[in-house]
Amino acid sequence: ALHARAVHHAYGQTPVLHGVTLSVQPGEVVAVSGPSGSGKSTLLHLLGGLDTPKSGEIHWADVRADTLSTQARAHERTRRVGLVFQHHYLLQDLTVHANLLVPAQLLGVDLRARADELLARVGLTDRAHLYPGALSGGERQRAALARALMTHPALLLADEPTGSLDRANADRVADLLLDLARANDTGVLLVTHDERLAARADRTLHLEDGHLH
Ligand code: ATP
Ligand code: MG
Repeated sequence: ALHARAVHHAYGQTPVLHGVTLSVQPGEVVAVSGPSGSGKSTLLHLLGGLDTPKSGEIHWADVRADTLSTQARAHERTRRVGLVFQHHYLLQDLTVHANLLVPAQLLGVDLRARADELLARVGLTDRAHLYPGALSGGERQRAALARALMTHPALLLADEPTGSLDRANADRVADLLLDLARANDTGVLLVTHDERLAARADRTLHLEDGHLH
């Protein structure tokens, strides 16, 4: 699902990543841990094509992401990569249902049946026509997860997906994320401080001083 090789990154003169190499296989769940400021979010942004590394290669299956044009990369990302963050990034002026259909609109395909299926799966059928502002934090994060999975992405990148939730809601989001990824053969790279979630990954990598171990 994902292959990254010798990824280096810096902000200005400050290096953050010193040659990170990693792969995530279809259906595999990999957790990334590391101290605050070690570059975990930076790594996820680069792997998701939201930023371009100073050097190295990032492949989404058979597509090399880091050398694509901005527009081509956005298109490939929409098809191939689901993103979930600590804060949900739902569009406030669209209903939950309309938020789920944003990727479909970008790709020009009809995913209404998929939206209904995912809303049922994450327990939001009866909240679908509300705006995100009317949802609880746990409901918003379940909606964000459903949106990330709309296009059946081969890769799901999640940065502290349970970080803003209480324990019960964190467990529900973690259960859904892991169940849906494993059922769909989605590779997952997950940054988390939640040790109970990290323990459920297939393996854990540690980022420290710009190196991944
Ligand atoms: P946390 O666990 O607190 O979320 P993190 O491991 O995700 O930390 P990053 O957010 O990737 O860490 O930041 C890594 C380093 O890069 C930090 O020193 C941070 O200050 C710096 N940094 C992050 N984003 C930028 C940016 N846009 N411009 C300049 N420096 C940045
Ligand atoms: Mg971070």
